[in-house]
Amino acid sequence: MELRLYDTMTKEKQPFRPLDPAHVRMYVCGPTVYDFAHIGNARPVIVFDVLFRLLRHLYGETHVTYVRNITDVDDKINDRAARDYPELPLNEAIRKVTEQTGAQFHADVDALGALRPTVEPRATEHIEEMRAIIERLIANGNAYVEQNHVLFAVGTMPEYGRLSRRSLDEMIAGARVDVAPYKRDAMDFVLWKPSKPGEPSWPSPGGIKVEGRPGWHIECSAMAWKHLGEQFDIHGGGIDLVFPHHENEVAQTCCAFHSDRMAQVWMHNGFLQVEGDKMSKSLGNFVTIRELLGTDTFGERRWPGEVLRLAMLRTHYRSPLDWTVAALEESKKTLDSWYDIIGDDTPATGALDESVAAALGDDLNTAGAIARLHALASEIRAASGPVATDLRRKFKQSAMLMGLLHGTQKEYRASDPQALLIDRSAVDALIDARKAARTRKDFKESDRIRDELAAMGVVVKDGKDANGNPVTTWEVAR
Ligand code: AMP
Ligand code: ZN
Repeated sequence: MELRLYDTMTKEKQPFRPLDPAHVRMYVCGPTVYDFAHIGNARPVIVFDVLFRLLRHLYGETHVTYVRNITDVDDKINDRAARDYPELPLNEAIRKVTEQTGAQFHADVDALGALRPTVEPRATEHIEEMRAIIERLIANGNAYVEQNHVLFAVGTMPEYGRLSRRSLDEMIAGARVDVAPYKRDAMDFVLWKPSKPGEPSWPSPGGIKVEGRPGWHIECSAMAWKHLGEQFDIHGGGIDLVFPHHENEVAQTCCAFHSDRMAQVWMHNGFLQVEGDKMSKSLGNFVTIRELLGTDTFGERRWPGEVLRLAMLRTHYRSPLDWTVAALEESKKTLDSWYDIIGDDTPATGALDESVAAALGDDLNTAGAIARLHALASEIRAASGPVATDLRRKFKQSAMLMGLLHGTQKEYRASDPQALLIDRSAVDALIDARKAARTRKDFKESDRIRDELAAMGVVVKDGKDANGNPVTTWEVAR
């Protein structure tokens, strides 16, 4: 199977050839941890998780290094910390915010079935590398010190703008650049800036006497360098990051290391909107992953993480995606029916379906792969005996390449907060009926009810209370 990927830099789909044929290196820009992640943030997480899985399949699990950073130094984090913990010193408050938000992010993306990246570096743990790159840029004549800031001099890099293919005017408009007094040219961007009192601060590069903190773009150049080297294979993120973030990363890395490229392939996911509108807090259509999963509160419609994943993968990653309740309903129906086919005991063994693999290899054509799975599902429904069994295995194996059908039907049902909501009273009623059956020594009936509960994904536990009286409790099977 051949892997072809679309490269934002060349605007072409090309066969993928890693620099080291035996080891693939990928960097994806991760979250800035100051609030709950929204469903738009889930798109790069899921898209690049599918790519990670595919690369692991092609090159071997231990032959892919996937780095996704955590940005834990940022103005938005500082503001949030001051707002939520006014009584704490700012640095402590910041630590609380980043720890909490980081843990929430992990819980959310785990529920979406995303594998953890190989390395998850934090910006604050790579200040040394950032300073080292900045010193090189100053020494190479690409950066200058002005009023305790260090700036990248865009005019020193003739290829600046190659990734985003913008004219200088467009860049200025797009970046809404400040014409700050410490900038020699409006396009120059900050590598390092002085910290305000109480803000996180580190010893500055470039002979600057006051302490400071890094700009956003330098963080990714430093973390990618530390964990993947001066050049690596794939750099990814959302389309909004092409300019200025990735353009500036390229400028920093290439000028610091005198190289002509940072990544072999640049990949960007399209933007997600909600029911046809741009997602925004002011429009009231801002949706967090957590709300959709129903992890916080019960009450409205909630969805299993796997349904969110399938809904995300129905659209090709480079296209804009319209996030709608209708698409979620449809994805839920699809997964319900697929799990009916797979049940609880289809092993994940056997060959992959060639067409599913080929679709994914064609620049992650997940929509094509899903269409093929629908066709396979029909074949399975029409088949019987060992033929059907083999097809089921192939079906599961192929879906798993996209992070779908990872668990058993029981686990899938247990992950549906809505089902749990509806079923809670039904479960209690069955537990009561079972108790009554046991009291009248109708053990056949009590066993039948236990099995019925088990089929719903509920485990019954008989025990004794403090007074030695029998009690029955239940929990959702894990
Ligand atoms: P941020 O925390 O805003 O820097 O975003 C983290 C990641 O989510 C980046 O790769 C963004 O490009 C991506 N992202 C943010 N909003 C959306 C959206 N509405 N649709 C798709 N990707 C998004
Ligand atoms: Zn980045």
